[in-house]
Amino acid sequence: MIRTVQQYLDSLDDGREIWCMGERVKDVRTHPTLSGIIKTAALDYVLPHQPEYRELFVTQDEDGEDVNYLLTAPRNAEELLRRRACYITAMRTGGGVLLHCMGADALAAFTVTANVMDKELGTHYSERVENYRKLLMKQDLGITGAITDVKGDRSLHPSQQKQHPDYYLRIVDRQKDGIIVRGAKVHISASPCANELLCSPCRTHGEADKDYALAFAMPVATKGIKLLAVEPVSRTYGAEGRFDYPKTSALQPTESLIVFDDVFVPWERVFMCGEWQFSRTLAYAFASYHRLFGTCKMVGKLEAMTGAAALVAEYNGVDRADHIRKKLAWMAMITHMVFELGRAACLDPAKEFGHDVAMPNPMSINSAKFTFASNFHQMCQHMQDIAGGLCTTVPTYRDWRNPEIRPYIEKYLSAKDGVSTEERLRVMRLIKDMTGNFWQIDTIHGEGSMAAQQMFLYNSADWDRLKAAAKRAAHIDGWQNNAVYGDLVSPDVVEMPEVDESYKSIPVTAK
Ligand SMILES: Cc1cc2nc3c(=O)[nH]c(=O)nc-3n(C[C@H](O)[C@H](O)[C@H](O)COP(=O)(O)OP(=O)(O)OC[C@H]3O[C@@H](n4cnc5c(N)ncnc54)[C@H](O)[C@@H]3O)c2cc1C
Repeated sequence: MIRTVQQYLDSLDDGREIWCMGERVKDVRTHPTLSGIIKTAALDYVLPHQPEYRELFVTQDEDGEDVNYLLTAPRNAEELLRRRACYITAMRTGGGVLLHCMGADALAAFTVTANVMDKELGTHYSERVENYRKLLMKQDLGITGAITDVKGDRSLHPSQQKQHPDYYLRIVDRQKDGIIVRGAKVHISASPCANELLCSPCRTHGEADKDYALAFAMPVATKGIKLLAVEPVSRTYGAEGRFDYPKTSALQPTESLIVFDDVFVPWERVFMCGEWQFSRTLAYAFASYHRLFGTCKMVGKLEAMTGAAALVAEYNGVDRADHIRKKLAWMAMITHMVFELGRAACLDPAKEFGHDVAMPNPMSINSAKFTFASNFHQMCQHMQDIAGGLCTTVPTYRDWRNPEIRPYIEKYLSAKDGVSTEERLRVMRLIKDMTGNFWQIDTIHGEGSMAAQQMFLYNSADWDRLKAAAKRAAHIDGWQNNAVYGDLVSPDVVEMPEVDESYKSIPVTAK
Protein backbone atom coordinates (compact mmCIF):
# COMPACT_ATOMS: atom_id res chain seq x y z
CA MET A 1 0.00 0.00 0.00
CA ILE A 2 0.96 3.64 -0.30
CA ARG A 3 -0.10 5.46 2.84
CA THR A 4 -1.55 8.94 2.93
CA VAL A 5 0.06 11.70 4.98
CA GLN A 6 -2.75 11.38 7.52
CA GLN A 7 -2.19 7.65 7.90
CA TYR A 8 1.51 8.31 8.45
CA LEU A 9 0.84 11.02 11.06
CA ASP A 10 -1.63 8.76 12.86
CA SER A 11 0.99 5.99 13.03
CA LEU A 12 3.24 8.23 15.14
CA ASP A 13 0.72 8.24 17.95
CA ASP A 14 2.26 5.04 19.31
CA GLY A 15 3.66 5.88 22.74
CA ARG A 16 7.30 6.11 21.55
CA GLU A 17 9.81 7.31 24.13
CA ILE A 18 11.63 10.39 22.85
CA TRP A 19 13.53 13.03 24.77
CA CYS A 20 14.56 16.45 23.45
CA MET A 21 16.62 19.02 25.38
CA GLY A 22 15.98 17.32 28.68
CA GLU A 23 12.20 17.02 28.30
CA ARG A 24 10.08 13.98 27.45
CA VAL A 25 8.36 14.62 24.13
CA LYS A 26 4.62 14.22 24.56
CA ASP A 27 3.85 13.97 20.86
CA VAL A 28 6.38 14.39 18.03
CA ARG A 29 3.67 15.79 15.79
CA THR A 30 3.07 18.82 17.99
CA HIS A 31 6.56 19.39 19.45
CA PRO A 32 7.68 22.91 18.38
CA THR A 33 10.91 21.82 16.65
CA LEU A 34 10.58 18.06 16.12
CA SER A 35 7.30 18.63 14.29
CA GLY A 36 9.36 20.38 11.55
CA ILE A 37 11.12 17.08 10.93
CA ILE A 38 7.82 15.22 10.87
CA LYS A 39 6.50 17.69 8.30
CA THR A 40 9.51 17.00 6.08
CA ALA A 41 9.27 13.25 6.63
CA ALA A 42 5.61 13.35 5.58
CA LEU A 43 6.83 14.27 2.08
CA ASP A 44 7.58 10.54 1.73
CA TYR A 45 3.82 10.11 1.65
CA VAL A 46 3.19 13.10 -0.62
CA LEU A 47 5.50 12.36 -3.54
CA PRO A 48 4.13 8.91 -4.48
CA HIS A 49 0.63 10.39 -4.73
CA GLN A 50 1.68 13.21 -7.07
CA PRO A 51 0.82 12.28 -10.68
CA GLU A 52 4.17 13.58 -11.98
CA TYR A 53 6.21 11.44 -9.54
CA ARG A 54 4.03 8.38 -9.28
CA GLU A 55 5.79 6.44 -12.00
CA LEU A 56 9.12 7.03 -10.28
CA PHE A 57 8.17 6.24 -6.68
CA VAL A 58 5.50 3.58 -7.08
CA THR A 59 5.83 0.00 -8.25
CA GLN A 60 3.75 -3.15 -7.73
CA ASP A 61 4.44 -6.12 -5.49
CA GLU A 62 3.81 -9.75 -6.49
CA ASP A 63 0.11 -9.35 -5.67
CA GLY A 64 -0.14 -6.38 -8.02
CA GLU A 65 -0.55 -3.97 -5.13
CA ASP A 66 1.07 -0.51 -5.24
CA VAL A 67 4.20 -0.28 -3.08
CA ASN A 68 7.05 2.17 -2.60
CA TYR A 69 9.79 1.51 -5.17
CA LEU A 70 12.56 2.22 -2.65
CA LEU A 71 11.57 -0.88 -0.68
CA THR A 72 12.64 -3.14 -3.57
CA ALA A 73 16.20 -4.48 -3.92
CA PRO A 74 18.04 -3.07 -6.98
CA ARG A 75 19.12 -5.83 -9.40
CA ASN A 76 20.86 -3.94 -12.19
CA ALA A 77 22.15 -0.58 -13.42
CA GLU A 78 18.71 0.55 -14.53
CA GLU A 79 17.18 -0.09 -11.10
CA LEU A 80 20.06 1.65 -9.34
CA LEU A 81 19.55 4.64 -11.62
CA ARG A 82 15.85 4.72 -10.74
CA ARG A 83 16.71 4.56 -7.04
CA ARG A 84 19.10 7.46 -7.59
CA ALA A 85 16.43 9.42 -9.48
CA CYS A 86 14.05 8.97 -6.50
CA TYR A 87 16.72 10.21 -4.08
CA ILE A 88 17.73 13.23 -6.16
CA THR A 89 14.14 14.26 -6.89
CA ALA A 90 13.22 13.97 -3.23
CA MET A 91 16.31 15.79 -1.96
CA ARG A 92 15.69 18.63 -4.41
CA THR A 93 12.10 18.73 -3.15
CA GLY A 94 13.45 19.26 0.36
CA GLY A 95 14.08 15.89 1.96
CA GLY A 96 11.24 13.69 0.77
CA VAL A 97 12.98 10.34 1.24
CA LEU A 98 13.87 10.75 4.89
CA LEU A 99 11.95 7.58 5.69
CA HIS A 100 13.15 5.52 2.73
CA CYS A 101 16.89 6.21 2.48
CA MET A 102 19.01 4.91 5.42
CA GLY A 103 16.38 2.25 6.09
CA ALA A 104 16.07 1.25 2.45
CA ASP A 105 19.87 1.00 2.24
CA ALA A 106 19.97 -1.18 5.36
CA LEU A 107 17.21 -3.39 3.90
CA ALA A 108 19.18 -3.78 0.65
CA ALA A 109 22.27 -4.71 2.73
CA PHE A 110 20.22 -7.28 4.70
CA THR A 111 19.22 -8.84 1.38
CA VAL A 112 22.83 -9.11 0.17
CA THR A 113 24.12 -10.57 3.44
CA ALA A 114 21.23 -12.99 3.99
CA ASN A 115 21.82 -14.32 0.51
CA VAL A 116 25.54 -14.85 1.15
CA MET A 117 24.96 -16.44 4.60
CA ASP A 118 22.27 -18.79 3.29
CA LYS A 119 24.58 -19.93 0.51
CA GLU A 120 27.59 -20.46 2.72
CA LEU A 121 25.99 -21.60 5.99
CA GLY A 122 22.68 -23.10 4.88
CA THR A 123 20.70 -20.63 7.02
CA HIS A 124 17.26 -19.27 6.04
CA TYR A 125 17.74 -15.57 6.55
CA SER A 126 16.66 -14.59 3.01
CA GLU A 127 13.16 -15.88 3.69
CA ARG A 128 12.96 -13.76 6.86
CA VAL A 129 14.27 -10.67 5.09
CA GLU A 130 11.75 -11.13 2.28
CA ASN A 131 8.89 -11.60 4.76
CA TYR A 132 9.98 -8.45 6.56
CA ARG A 133 10.17 -6.60 3.24
CA LYS A 134 6.60 -7.71 2.50
CA LEU A 135 5.44 -6.35 5.85
CA LEU A 136 7.10 -3.00 5.12
CA MET A 137 5.55 -2.87 1.68
CA LYS A 138 2.07 -3.90 2.79
CA GLN A 139 2.00 -1.38 5.64
CA ASP A 140 4.17 1.26 3.88
CA LEU A 141 6.21 1.83 7.01
CA GLY A 142 8.81 4.57 7.41
CA ILE A 143 12.21 3.05 8.19
CA THR A 144 15.69 4.14 9.16
CA GLY A 145 19.09 2.46 9.48
CA ALA A 146 20.74 2.33 12.90
CA ILE A 147 24.30 1.23 12.18
CA THR A 148 26.75 3.38 14.13
CA ASP A 149 27.46 2.09 17.64
CA VAL A 150 28.74 4.39 20.37
CA LYS A 151 31.99 2.36 20.15
CA GLY A 152 33.81 3.37 23.36
CA ASP A 153 37.59 3.09 22.88
CA ARG A 154 37.99 2.95 19.10
CA SER A 155 41.24 1.01 19.30
CA LEU A 156 39.54 -1.94 21.02
CA HIS A 157 37.27 -4.62 19.59
CA PRO A 158 33.75 -4.82 21.05
CA SER A 159 34.60 -7.72 23.35
CA GLN A 160 37.81 -6.04 24.59
CA GLN A 161 36.22 -2.83 25.91
CA LYS A 162 37.22 -2.04 29.48
CA GLN A 163 34.50 -0.02 31.19
CA HIS A 164 31.48 -2.10 30.17
CA PRO A 165 30.58 -4.57 27.38
CA ASP A 166 27.73 -2.49 25.90
CA TYR A 167 29.55 0.00 23.64
CA TYR A 168 28.36 -2.05 20.68
CA LEU A 169 24.82 -3.38 20.46
CA ARG A 170 24.88 -7.04 21.51
CA ILE A 171 22.87 -10.15 22.22
CA VAL A 172 22.55 -10.60 25.99
CA ASP A 173 20.21 -13.59 25.90
CA ARG A 174 18.97 -16.14 23.37
CA GLN A 175 15.46 -17.35 24.17
CA LYS A 176 12.95 -19.72 22.62
CA ASP A 177 11.01 -16.97 20.81
CA GLY A 178 13.78 -14.48 20.19
CA ILE A 179 16.72 -12.60 21.63
CA ILE A 180 17.33 -9.83 24.16
CA VAL A 181 19.59 -7.00 22.96
CA ARG A 182 21.40 -4.25 24.86
CA GLY A 183 23.54 -1.27 23.79
CA ALA A 184 23.18 2.06 22.01
CA LYS A 185 23.35 3.43 18.48
CA VAL A 186 24.36 7.05 17.95
CA HIS A 187 23.72 9.84 15.38
CA ILE A 188 20.77 7.91 13.90
CA SER A 189 19.05 10.09 11.30
CA ALA A 190 15.28 10.20 10.79
CA SER A 191 14.79 8.31 14.04
CA PRO A 192 12.08 10.50 15.66
CA CYS A 193 9.94 10.24 12.52
CA ALA A 194 10.49 6.59 11.59
CA ASN A 195 8.17 3.68 12.34
CA GLU A 196 10.91 1.05 12.32
CA LEU A 197 14.64 0.88 13.16
CA LEU A 198 16.82 -1.45 11.07
CA CYS A 199 19.90 -2.26 13.13
CA SER A 200 23.16 -3.76 11.95
CA PRO A 201 26.87 -3.74 12.88
CA CYS A 202 29.14 -0.86 11.92
CA ARG A 203 32.36 -2.89 11.79
CA THR A 204 33.94 -6.27 11.19
CA HIS A 205 34.13 -8.81 14.00
CA GLY A 206 36.35 -11.61 15.23
CA GLU A 207 35.03 -14.82 16.77
CA ALA A 208 35.30 -13.35 20.27
CA ASP A 209 32.84 -10.65 19.16
CA LYS A 210 30.16 -13.01 17.90
CA ASP A 211 27.47 -11.67 20.24
CA TYR A 212 27.94 -8.30 18.56
CA ALA A 213 27.35 -9.72 15.07
CA LEU A 214 23.71 -8.79 15.13
CA ALA A 215 21.11 -7.47 12.69
CA PHE A 216 17.40 -6.99 13.30
CA ALA A 217 14.51 -4.57 12.89
CA MET A 218 12.09 -3.30 15.52
CA PRO A 219 9.40 -0.61 15.77
CA VAL A 220 10.56 2.65 17.38
CA ALA A 221 7.74 2.24 19.88
CA THR A 222 9.10 -0.90 21.52
CA LYS A 223 9.51 -1.41 25.25
CA GLY A 224 13.11 -0.56 26.19
CA ILE A 225 13.87 1.65 23.15
CA LYS A 226 14.57 5.26 24.11
CA LEU A 227 15.46 8.06 21.69
CA LEU A 228 17.55 10.96 22.99
CA ALA A 229 17.05 13.46 20.16
CA VAL A 230 19.81 15.87 19.19
CA GLU A 231 19.43 19.57 20.03
CA PRO A 232 17.62 21.43 17.22
CA VAL A 233 19.71 23.87 15.14
CA SER A 234 16.86 26.36 15.14
CA ARG A 235 14.87 26.87 18.27
CA THR A 236 12.41 28.95 16.32
CA TYR A 237 9.68 27.45 14.19
CA GLY A 238 7.00 28.30 11.62
CA ALA A 239 7.61 31.45 9.54
CA GLU A 240 10.37 32.55 11.92
CA GLY A 241 12.22 29.23 11.59
CA ARG A 242 11.94 29.38 7.81
CA PHE A 243 13.39 32.91 7.70
CA ASP A 244 16.24 32.41 10.20
CA TYR A 245 17.26 28.85 9.26
CA PRO A 246 15.66 28.18 5.88
CA LYS A 247 17.34 24.81 5.33
CA THR A 248 17.80 23.28 8.75
CA SER A 249 14.39 24.27 10.14
CA ALA A 250 12.90 21.68 7.77
CA LEU A 251 15.65 19.14 8.33
CA GLN A 252 16.70 19.97 11.87
CA PRO A 253 19.16 17.42 13.02
CA THR A 254 16.94 14.37 12.77
CA GLU A 255 19.46 12.33 14.74
CA SER A 256 19.12 10.57 18.09
CA LEU A 257 21.16 8.52 20.49
CA ILE A 258 19.10 5.33 20.65
CA VAL A 259 19.30 3.25 23.81
CA PHE A 260 18.29 -0.42 23.69
CA ASP A 261 17.62 -1.28 27.28
CA ASP A 262 17.20 -5.07 27.17
CA VAL A 263 14.87 -5.12 24.19
CA PHE A 264 13.16 -8.36 23.13
CA VAL A 265 13.41 -9.11 19.39
CA PRO A 266 11.35 -12.04 18.03
CA TRP A 267 13.21 -14.45 15.74
CA GLU A 268 11.30 -13.46 12.60
CA ARG A 269 12.87 -9.99 12.94
CA VAL A 270 16.45 -11.21 13.46
CA PHE A 271 18.62 -11.16 10.31
CA MET A 272 22.03 -11.99 11.78
CA CYS A 273 22.71 -13.58 15.12
CA GLY A 274 26.32 -14.42 15.88
CA GLU A 275 27.59 -15.03 12.31
CA TRP A 276 30.65 -12.85 12.96
CA GLN A 277 32.35 -13.77 9.66
CA PHE A 278 29.61 -11.88 7.77
CA SER A 279 29.57 -8.58 9.67
CA ARG A 280 32.01 -7.28 7.10
CA THR A 281 29.65 -8.09 4.22
CA LEU A 282 26.79 -6.34 5.97
CA ALA A 283 28.78 -3.22 6.87
CA TYR A 284 30.31 -3.11 3.39
CA ALA A 285 26.98 -3.53 1.58
CA PHE A 286 25.25 -0.89 3.72
CA ALA A 287 28.07 1.61 3.19
CA SER A 288 27.98 1.11 -0.59
CA TYR A 289 24.22 1.62 -0.84
CA HIS A 290 24.17 4.43 1.64
CA ARG A 291 26.88 6.42 -0.10
CA LEU A 292 24.68 6.38 -3.19
CA PHE A 293 22.00 8.11 -1.12
CA GLY A 294 24.70 10.38 0.35
CA THR A 295 25.82 11.58 -3.06
CA CYS A 296 22.21 12.28 -4.05
CA LYS A 297 21.68 14.24 -0.85
CA MET A 298 24.83 16.13 -1.74
CA VAL A 299 23.61 17.00 -5.22
CA GLY A 300 20.74 18.92 -3.60
CA LYS A 301 23.09 20.56 -1.11
CA LEU A 302 25.73 21.46 -3.69
CA GLU A 303 23.19 22.90 -6.10
CA ALA A 304 21.77 25.08 -3.32
CA MET A 305 25.25 26.19 -2.21
CA THR A 306 26.50 27.00 -5.69
CA GLY A 307 23.22 28.74 -6.48
CA ALA A 308 23.35 30.76 -3.25
CA ALA A 309 26.90 31.93 -4.05
CA ALA A 310 25.81 33.01 -7.55
CA LEU A 311 22.71 34.72 -6.17
CA VAL A 312 24.50 36.64 -3.45
CA ALA A 313 27.17 37.73 -5.95
CA GLU A 314 24.37 39.13 -8.09
CA TYR A 315 22.60 40.77 -5.12
CA ASN A 316 25.87 42.36 -3.95
CA GLY A 317 26.73 43.58 -7.47
CA VAL A 318 29.98 41.60 -7.78
CA ASP A 319 28.87 38.90 -10.21
CA ARG A 320 31.08 40.26 -12.99
CA ALA A 321 34.30 40.32 -10.98
CA ASP A 322 36.92 37.93 -12.32
CA HIS A 323 37.85 36.33 -8.97
CA ILE A 324 34.17 35.75 -8.15
CA ARG A 325 33.55 34.01 -11.45
CA LYS A 326 36.55 31.74 -10.91
CA LYS A 327 35.17 30.72 -7.52
CA LEU A 328 31.70 30.13 -8.96
CA ALA A 329 33.18 28.07 -11.79
CA TRP A 330 35.00 25.89 -9.25
CA MET A 331 31.82 25.41 -7.23
CA ALA A 332 29.90 24.44 -10.37
CA MET A 333 32.66 21.95 -11.21
CA ILE A 334 32.50 20.20 -7.82
CA THR A 335 28.70 20.03 -8.09
CA HIS A 336 28.97 18.46 -11.52
CA MET A 337 31.66 15.99 -10.46
CA VAL A 338 29.60 14.66 -7.55
CA PHE A 339 26.51 14.38 -9.76
CA GLU A 340 28.36 12.46 -12.47
CA LEU A 341 30.31 10.19 -10.12
CA GLY A 342 27.03 9.14 -8.49
CA ARG A 343 25.61 8.33 -11.91
CA ALA A 344 28.75 6.43 -12.92
CA ALA A 345 28.40 4.30 -9.77
CA CYS A 346 24.99 3.11 -11.00
CA LEU A 347 25.98 2.59 -14.62
CA ASP A 348 28.76 0.18 -13.70
CA PRO A 349 27.44 -1.63 -10.60
CA ALA A 350 29.26 -4.21 -8.51
CA LYS A 351 27.89 -7.76 -8.59
CA GLU A 352 30.63 -9.06 -6.36
CA PHE A 353 28.57 -11.29 -4.10
CA GLY A 354 27.55 -13.34 -7.11
CA HIS A 355 23.77 -13.06 -6.87
CA ASP A 356 20.90 -11.06 -8.14
CA VAL A 357 21.52 -7.76 -6.37
CA ALA A 358 23.44 -4.82 -7.80
CA MET A 359 25.49 -2.50 -5.59
CA PRO A 360 26.85 0.92 -6.56
CA ASN A 361 30.37 0.73 -7.98
CA PRO A 362 32.65 1.16 -4.94
CA MET A 363 35.33 3.26 -6.67
CA SER A 364 32.85 5.75 -8.13
CA ILE A 365 30.58 6.02 -5.11
CA ASN A 366 33.41 6.48 -2.63
CA SER A 367 35.09 8.98 -4.94
CA ALA A 368 31.82 10.92 -5.05
CA LYS A 369 31.43 11.05 -1.26
CA PHE A 370 35.10 11.88 -0.71
CA THR A 371 35.05 14.62 -3.37
CA PHE A 372 32.14 16.25 -1.62
CA ALA A 373 33.42 15.84 1.94
CA SER A 374 36.95 17.01 1.17
CA ASN A 375 35.79 20.07 -0.78
CA PHE A 376 32.83 21.11 1.35
CA HIS A 377 34.78 23.52 3.54
CA GLN A 378 36.26 25.17 0.46
CA MET A 379 32.70 25.53 -0.88
CA CYS A 380 31.77 27.22 2.41
CA GLN A 381 34.79 29.49 2.25
CA HIS A 382 33.85 30.65 -1.26
CA MET A 383 30.23 31.26 -0.25
CA GLN A 384 31.27 33.21 2.83
CA ASP A 385 33.90 35.17 0.93
CA ILE A 386 31.48 36.14 -1.85
CA ALA A 387 28.63 36.98 0.56
CA GLY A 388 30.67 39.23 2.87
CA GLY A 389 30.38 39.51 6.64
CA LEU A 390 26.62 39.94 6.56
CA CYS A 391 26.25 36.19 6.17
CA THR A 392 27.01 35.97 9.87
CA THR A 393 25.79 39.34 11.26
CA VAL A 394 22.49 39.22 9.33
CA PRO A 395 19.42 40.31 11.36
CA THR A 396 16.84 37.75 12.41
CA TYR A 397 13.18 37.41 11.52
CA ARG A 398 12.21 39.14 14.77
CA ASP A 399 14.38 42.17 13.88
CA TRP A 400 12.91 42.22 10.40
CA ARG A 401 9.34 42.09 11.70
CA ASN A 402 9.78 44.88 14.24
CA PRO A 403 8.32 48.07 12.67
CA GLU A 404 10.54 50.30 14.77
CA ILE A 405 13.83 49.01 13.40
CA ARG A 406 12.79 47.54 10.06
CA PRO A 407 13.10 50.87 8.14
CA TYR A 408 16.80 51.02 9.10
CA ILE A 409 17.34 47.44 8.01
CA GLU A 410 15.46 48.14 4.75
CA LYS A 411 17.53 51.22 4.04
CA TYR A 412 21.02 50.19 5.10
CA LEU A 413 21.10 46.53 4.27
CA SER A 414 19.91 46.91 0.71
CA ALA A 415 22.58 46.67 -2.02
CA LYS A 416 21.93 46.34 -5.74
CA ASP A 417 19.09 48.38 -7.17
CA GLY A 418 16.16 46.15 -8.11
CA VAL A 419 16.86 43.52 -5.43
CA SER A 420 14.70 43.80 -2.33
CA THR A 421 16.38 43.92 1.06
CA GLU A 422 14.26 40.99 2.15
CA GLU A 423 15.60 38.81 -0.67
CA ARG A 424 19.16 39.77 0.21
CA LEU A 425 18.56 38.96 3.87
CA ARG A 426 17.01 35.63 2.99
CA VAL A 427 19.96 34.51 0.91
CA MET A 428 22.35 35.67 3.69
CA ARG A 429 20.36 33.63 6.23
CA LEU A 430 20.53 30.65 3.87
CA ILE A 431 24.34 30.93 3.65
CA LYS A 432 24.62 31.35 7.42
CA ASP A 433 22.49 28.23 7.83
CA MET A 434 24.29 26.13 5.22
CA THR A 435 27.78 26.95 6.50
CA GLY A 436 26.89 26.16 10.11
CA ASN A 437 28.25 23.47 12.36
CA PHE A 438 25.61 20.82 11.59
CA TRP A 439 26.15 20.72 7.84
CA GLN A 440 29.93 20.80 8.17
CA ILE A 441 30.02 17.77 10.42
CA ASP A 442 27.26 15.93 8.61
CA THR A 443 29.34 16.30 5.45
CA ILE A 444 32.49 14.86 6.99
CA HIS A 445 30.93 12.03 9.02
CA GLY A 446 27.47 11.32 7.53
CA GLU A 447 27.68 8.10 5.43
CA GLY A 448 30.99 7.28 7.18
CA SER A 449 34.16 9.21 8.00
CA MET A 450 36.57 10.13 5.22
CA ALA A 451 39.00 7.40 6.30
CA ALA A 452 36.22 4.89 5.64
CA GLN A 453 35.96 6.07 2.03
CA GLN A 454 39.75 5.95 1.67
CA MET A 455 39.69 2.38 2.92
CA PHE A 456 37.11 1.43 0.27
CA LEU A 457 39.04 3.32 -2.40
CA TYR A 458 42.31 1.64 -1.47
CA ASN A 459 40.69 -1.81 -1.41
CA SER A 460 38.67 -1.33 -4.60
CA ALA A 461 41.29 0.34 -6.79
CA ASP A 462 42.59 -1.85 -9.62
CA TRP A 463 46.23 -1.74 -8.50
CA ASP A 464 47.22 -4.40 -11.02
CA ARG A 465 46.06 -2.17 -13.88
CA LEU A 466 47.62 0.97 -12.39
CA LYS A 467 50.96 -0.72 -11.78
CA ALA A 468 50.84 -2.25 -15.26
CA ALA A 469 50.40 1.27 -16.66
CA ALA A 470 53.51 2.41 -14.80
CA LYS A 471 55.51 -0.67 -15.78
CA ARG A 472 54.62 -0.30 -19.41
CA ALA A 473 55.56 3.39 -19.31
CA ALA A 474 58.85 2.59 -17.57
CA HIS A 475 59.61 -0.41 -19.85
CA ILE A 476 59.56 -2.83 -16.93
CA ASP A 477 58.31 -6.28 -17.82
CA GLY A 478 55.17 -7.52 -16.09
CA TRP A 479 52.47 -5.39 -17.70
CA GLN A 480 51.96 -7.90 -20.52
CA ASN A 481 49.60 -10.09 -18.49
CA ASN A 482 47.30 -7.26 -17.49
CA ALA A 483 43.86 -7.43 -19.11
CA VAL A 484 43.87 -3.76 -20.11
CA TYR A 485 47.53 -2.95 -20.74
CA GLY A 486 48.64 -6.36 -21.97
CA ASP A 487 46.35 -6.22 -24.99
CA LEU A 488 47.35 -2.76 -26.12
CA VAL A 489 49.35 -2.38 -29.27
CA SER A 490 53.04 -1.84 -28.60
CA PRO A 491 54.54 1.41 -29.95
CA ASP A 492 57.35 -0.80 -31.30
CA VAL A 493 55.06 -2.04 -34.10
CA VAL A 494 55.86 1.21 -35.90
CA GLU A 495 58.97 0.64 -37.98
CA MET A 496 61.15 3.75 -38.32
CA PRO A 497 64.14 4.43 -40.57
CA GLU A 498 67.61 4.22 -38.92
CA VAL A 499 68.39 7.18 -36.61
CA ASP A 500 70.77 9.80 -37.99
CA GLU A 501 73.70 9.73 -35.54
CA SER A 502 75.50 12.81 -36.83
CA TYR A 503 73.93 15.30 -34.33
CA LYS A 504 76.59 16.63 -31.92
CA SER A 505 74.17 17.83 -29.23
CA ILE A 506 72.68 14.33 -28.77
CA PRO A 507 75.16 11.68 -27.67
CA VAL A 508 74.98 8.38 -29.41
CA THR A 509 73.78 5.70 -27.00
CA ALA A 510 74.91 2.10 -26.92
CA LYS A 511 72.56 -0.05 -28.99
C1 LIG B 1 24.67 14.18 10.89
C2 LIG B 1 25.00 12.73 10.93
C3 LIG B 1 24.05 11.80 10.55
C4 LIG B 1 24.33 10.44 10.66
N1 LIG B 1 23.34 9.52 10.36
C5 LIG B 1 23.54 8.21 10.62
C6 LIG B 1 22.49 7.26 10.46
O1 LIG B 1 21.39 7.57 10.05
N2 LIG B 1 22.73 5.97 10.78
C7 LIG B 1 23.93 5.57 11.24
O2 LIG B 1 24.08 4.39 11.54
N3 LIG B 1 24.95 6.42 11.41
C8 LIG B 1 24.79 7.74 11.11
N4 LIG B 1 25.82 8.65 11.26
C9 LIG B 1 27.09 8.15 11.79
C10 LIG B 1 28.30 8.24 10.88
O3 LIG B 1 28.35 7.15 10.00
C11 LIG B 1 29.52 8.30 11.84
O4 LIG B 1 29.52 9.58 12.44
C12 LIG B 1 30.85 8.06 11.17
O5 LIG B 1 30.93 6.73 10.74
C13 LIG B 1 32.00 8.33 12.15
O6 LIG B 1 31.81 7.63 13.35
P1 LIG B 1 31.92 8.42 14.74
O7 LIG B 1 31.05 9.60 14.69
O8 LIG B 1 31.71 7.44 15.83
O9 LIG B 1 33.41 8.95 14.78
P2 LIG B 1 34.71 8.12 15.07
O10 LIG B 1 34.54 6.71 14.61
O11 LIG B 1 35.14 8.35 16.45
O12 LIG B 1 35.72 8.81 14.05
C14 LIG B 1 36.53 9.94 14.37
C15 LIG B 1 37.88 9.77 13.67
O13 LIG B 1 38.56 8.62 14.20
C16 LIG B 1 38.92 7.74 13.14
N5 LIG B 1 38.84 6.35 13.67
C17 LIG B 1 37.79 5.77 14.29
N6 LIG B 1 38.10 4.51 14.66
C18 LIG B 1 39.36 4.29 14.26
C19 LIG B 1 40.26 3.18 14.36
N7 LIG B 1 39.89 2.04 14.93
N8 LIG B 1 41.49 3.33 13.81
C20 LIG B 1 41.86 4.47 13.20
N9 LIG B 1 41.06 5.56 13.09
C21 LIG B 1 39.83 5.48 13.60
C22 LIG B 1 37.90 8.01 12.03
O14 LIG B 1 38.35 7.61 10.74
C23 LIG B 1 37.75 9.53 12.14
O15 LIG B 1 38.81 10.17 11.49
C24 LIG B 1 25.60 10.01 11.12
C25 LIG B 1 26.57 10.97 11.46
C26 LIG B 1 26.28 12.31 11.37
C27 LIG B 1 27.34 13.31 11.78
